[in-house]
Amino acid sequence: MLSLVVSVQSYAPGASVTAPLTASRSAAVRMMSDFAEEIGIPCEGDCEAIYTKLPESVKPGVVTGQALVDLLDYAKETGFAIPAVNCISSSSINACLEAARKNDAPIMVQFSSGGSQFYAGKGLDNTNYRAAIAGAVSGAYHVRAMAEQYGVPVVLHTDHCAKKLLPWMDGMLSASERYFETHGEPLFSSHMIDLSEEPMDENIAICKEYLERMTKMGMLLEMELGITGGEEDGVNNEDVNPEDLYTKPEEVYEVYKEFTKVEGSRFTIAAAFGNVHGVYAPGNVKLDPEILGRSQVYIAEQEGLPQGTKPVSFVFHGGSGSDIKDIKQAIEYGVIKMNIDTDTQWAYWSGIKDFEAKYREYLQTQIGNPDGADKPNKKYYDPREPMRSAEASTSDRLGQCFADLNCVNVCGLNPVQEPANVLGPRRGGLPC
Ligand SMILES: [Zn+2]
Repeated sequence: MLSLVVSVQSYAPGASVTAPLTASRSAAVRMMSDFAEEIGIPCEGDCEAIYTKLPESVKPGVVTGQALVDLLDYAKETGFAIPAVNCISSSSINACLEAARKNDAPIMVQFSSGGSQFYAGKGLDNTNYRAAIAGAVSGAYHVRAMAEQYGVPVVLHTDHCAKKLLPWMDGMLSASERYFETHGEPLFSSHMIDLSEEPMDENIAICKEYLERMTKMGMLLEMELGITGGEEDGVNNEDVNPEDLYTKPEEVYEVYKEFTKVEGSRFTIAAAFGNVHGVYAPGNVKLDPEILGRSQVYIAEQEGLPQGTKPVSFVFHGGSGSDIKDIKQAIEYGVIKMNIDTDTQWAYWSGIKDFEAKYREYLQTQIGNPDGADKPNKKYYDPREPMRSAEASTSDRLGQCFADLNCVNVCGLNPVQEPANVLGPRRGGLPC
């Protein structure tokens, strides 16, 4: 059974950033309340939508600042983790939002540097990571435009940023700083900086610099300790020293001590406990979630916190293909975010594969199929058809992730209604 623990200090208090109630914001609040009624979120006070089960600060749409802290603390207290899914297109984002709505849960949408570049289009020059910056910003605006429509809280995040990728981070932070000037909140909720390949001192020092910059906007930093093995997004850690796959509690405490010195800072730690990116044959990955539990105990002792306190919020990388027992145990030890990439990559692809297998004979020529030599095949090779199959398959697979992470029915939304498609695809969206 999960113990109910009130977390302290993993995010130092104070410095909460709230948006000024400008005219555009109050108009947005009114729009939101109409829409909130439709999807069954009750309204309160200024007619702002509130979820019955989540902290009051958490609203539909992208969650930042204090609302993000409240959401993650609530997850740790009540024993669930939020799936963080690597997205590469509006299609994969929509599949995530759909899955979150169906499972009545918050979700994290994240972009890797490669995924960001892909979002911009691989035909665009990526010198100085300019395409990756533009792609991440574009994806962020898509999430911001659509998350409220699905009625779910979304944490907008980016994945591994190694030292050489820091210009990508700088570009995204500049975009958030500009967004902050107008809207009183950052464009992104949080970012990950992964300097686990660098010496420990350098990892902490550089991350701390970024943490200071991000804290001014109420942003959260995820940092990595130890190395996640395997291969992802072109980074190959298949041959690292096995010892580096396991973090030590003393190292976690060192990060905790340094980061809590930044007033008002919010951070999570992706502490390696044998995690590997990718899916391998059973027996090849040896996870040791006890490392997380021992770290919490060690830090609580060092800081004189009450027994059972979980001072740190952990992130689980390389979770695809993990034993459910390890996942549940990791959540018990303070994991509030689990990254999902490989399993949804497979789900997206298998949706396309199954579609092709089902309609193979309708997909070989523009005209002519088993129903007749003069029958057109347009409605089968329209890219929306295989892509929709991929989205549905991804959304279904995510249902299993939400269940594994105890992240089902956590918002208190009404059941999803059958979508009403006003215009069929064959009219091309144009009224007759
Ligand atoms: Zn990772």
